[in-house]
Amino acid sequence: MAIYVNRVLNMKHIKVIGFDMDHTLVRYHSDKFEELTFNLAIDRLISDKEYPEEIKNFEFDFHKAIRGLIVDKVNGNILKVSQYNKIKTSYHGTKPLPFKEQRKLYQGSSVDLSDPIYMSLDTFFSIAHTLLFSQLVDLKDAKPELALPEYANMADDVTYAVDIIHRDDSLKSIVKADLDKYVVKDEKMVEALERFVKYDKKLWVITNSDYTYTKALLDYTINPFLKDHKHWSELFEITVTLAFKPRFFTEKNIMLKIDPDSGLMENFDKKVVPGIYQGGYATKLQDNFNLAGDQILYLGDHIYGDIVKLKKACGWRTALVIEELDFEVDAYKSTKAISVEIDELMADKVEFENQIDDLYAQEFEFGKSVEKDQVYAKFDEIEKIDKKIGTLIKSYEASFNGHWGEVMRAGVEPSIFASQVERYACIYMTKVSDFIDYSPRKYYRPMKLKLAHEK
Ligand code: IMP
Ligand code: MG
Repeated sequence: MAIYVNRVLNMKHIKVIGFDMDHTLVRYHSDKFEELTFNLAIDRLISDKEYPEEIKNFEFDFHKAIRGLIVDKVNGNILKVSQYNKIKTSYHGTKPLPFKEQRKLYQGSSVDLSDPIYMSLDTFFSIAHTLLFSQLVDLKDAKPELALPEYANMADDVTYAVDIIHRDDSLKSIVKADLDKYVVKDEKMVEALERFVKYDKKLWVITNSDYTYTKALLDYTINPFLKDHKHWSELFEITVTLAFKPRFFTEKNIMLKIDPDSGLMENFDKKVVPGIYQGGYATKLQDNFNLAGDQILYLGDHIYGDIVKLKKACGWRTALVIEELDFEVDAYKSTKAISVEIDELMADKVEFENQIDDLYAQEFEFGKSVEKDQVYAKFDEIEKIDKKIGTLIKSYEASFNGHWGEVMRAGVEPSIFASQVERYACIYMTKVSDFIDYSPRKYYRPMKLKLAHEK
């Protein structure tokens, strides 16, 4: 599939390509992975936070959440927001929030995302979080006698539970024991990486995962498909584990060198040479290899942790992997007829609005009183059109996600997620193997952006 371009990127100028690991180099069967996260987090809420056993009855439905949603921790709501911070879809727990209530709660339907009551869930690792929190809200509303904590505390408890299972190996030991179930193998991805090396690009991995997990996943996804290298550790000049991104891009952290065979680590404060490390920081790598920021391209899946900070602090070039993209592009194609019908109905609606304005012009400009029945008849027509448009929009959005619509769009505007992609990612694509269709020397150029008056 295609690589999409926001900003000019000349690959001939790029000397190093750095990769995030989880959800970038390594893709997951996310439905399985998140279901496991969901179930383990429920166990943690019961064991560590005294939640009732009945939360074990919660249902995991992967399609009831998408990436890029905003949790209003205080009110127990989950919101989909446009690039101008306008709420376009909202749920209280798992139930749609009536428009009147939404307007009352968020005067003007806009949110200030710098307020800490809002938490943005923008990686695939947050799907389980959203599903769990929304059902806890339902349970608290339905059964006050359970005396569950306030919504905001429940949101924090879910964050705690998801965080701890990611960190204490309870999740990862299960994944490592059944890699076939949880991890995608992609031979083309390895082919694309080896082709970059042929064109003299150096490859780095910079991941927040620890060495043992990184090794397990790279052994599984890369080694079997290598043609010009024996092992992934030869393919990558540098592998940084437990990188603590986004701090890796902004602060100076201690660096350790890892012995690949024993996994043992020792302090390392010398000039970085090819090898496997833990920690460290971006400018150290850049300086030690005598590179300018714009000679490094970094690919990640986390718009905030991988891309925004990096772009702001280091000036590296950026690429975002957006797993949902292929699906959304296909859905755009299959909904083309609906979009055309909506546009035609909108044109009819505008025509009726103009006719009403003309009638009023008679009154305001020539003193002739308006025939109210004529006006009402036209408003009736507009209402009929609005109903038809409403139905069509529902079926359009259902082709993307039945509950939330598109990831990249919120109504006619880009979603807040898409607006960050546009702002911070130089290029974006569905998966790393999409590079296989482009020369490693490619000059990526964006399409000319049209302003409103040029369209
Ligand atoms: P990366 O994408 O390769 O940088 O790795 C992401 C790492 O962050 C993986 O090891 C995930 O398990 C871990 N991770 C994802 N979400 C959480 C969380 O909420 N708390 C702690 N670790 C997380
Ligand atoms: Mg990642």
